[in-house]
Amino acid sequence: MIPKKPRFNYSRSKAKKFLLNNTSFTSFPVDPFQVYRDQGWLLFTWSEAKSILGSNDPLKLKKTGAEARTSITRGGNIYITVYDDTIVPKSRVRWTATHEIGHIVLNHLIEYEKTAINRGGLFKEEYKVLEVEADTFAAEVLTPFAVLKESGITSAHNIKKICDVSSKASYYRETTFKKVKKEFDISDRRLVSKYKSFIHEVLHG
Ligand SMILES: [Zn+2]
Repeated sequence: MIPKKPRFNYSRSKAKKFLLNNTSFTSFPVDPFQVYRDQGWLLFTWSEAKSILGSNDPLKLKKTGAEARTSITRGGNIYITVYDDTIVPKSRVRWTATHEIGHIVLNHLIEYEKTAINRGGLFKEEYKVLEVEADTFAAEVLTPFAVLKESGITSAHNIKKICDVSSKASYYRETTFKKVKKEFDISDRRLVSKYKSFIHEVLHG
């Protein structure tokens, strides 16, 4: 069963573990394309996928009007993401690709495989829950709360400039700095330690 409400803590915590376990992340902006290369997941533009997969509309991207979609092979180990490379600006592609990584890392395709493959039959609300979870994951990976806070990168202007995310995503992160007075948990502290050089560079040049 798809959760009734988005699991915010689960999504954030998976995102932090993902950043911690991935050696290629030490500064910003995060490169989701590198993640696909590192993990051996397949990432195609819609036009590439058309010829490679021999399909008129790979993963029904155009039919569903989605910016990207991800599927898992029947064997169960190979993930394929197809994305619309006509999306502008580039920061939006960064977000979209990280959102798809979120679906993979949050196990959406394994736990809700049937529904993920056949989204046509899903109730809108159920589908939205997974979308919110993937967005929560993307926000934490692209603009990790603890690292930005420790670096003093807390204004939407600076978040946008350094993390190369959209104005909307930057503004959203800025509001969490104003709103949330949460203590760092263990993975926040480990992230701060991992990004030590980056933070030092920002604070002391
Ligand atoms: Zn999605």
